[in-house]
Amino acid sequence: MTTAGADCLFCRIVARRSDAEIEYEDDHVLAFKDIYPKAAIHLLIVPKRHIASILTMETGDAEVIGRCLLAARTIGAAKGFGERGYRVSVNCGPEGGQHVYHVHFHFMAGGRRGA
Ligand code: 5GP
Ligand code: ZN
Repeated sequence: MTTAGADCLFCRIVARRSDAEIEYEDDHVLAFKDIYPKAAIHLLIVPKRHIASILTMETGDAEVIGRCLLAARTIGAAKGFGERGYRVSVNCGPEGGQHVYHVHFHFMAGGRRGA
């Protein structure tokens, strides 16, 4: 649950050691397409620094978590959803449906896809 670096899929994507279709990047945040999209546009917005889960985030993580939400706003506006809106969600822990233990915000826009 606290694995980082080489053991963490999203750390590998941040380090460009695993492939992903990157859609947004700034100094602190990366966003890339979810490999199994559940909406017409389904991105994962992650802090570049490894934070395992909202369950274990610390006060010092608050700024970069806020930056993830600012990235969602930027992405939404850039893709033409600034007024129509979109969904941003976080799964937290085993009963919250979290499978990858590097905090990520699901950004979903343009309607659901699949089951
Ligand atoms: P969780 O279930 O932890 O909230 O979300 C993990 C998300 O990561 C899922 O929506 C899943 O489709 C996505 N995912 C899993 N493996 C990969 C991968 O290798 N690349 C990308 N881009 N997304 C992945
Ligand atoms: Zn990580």
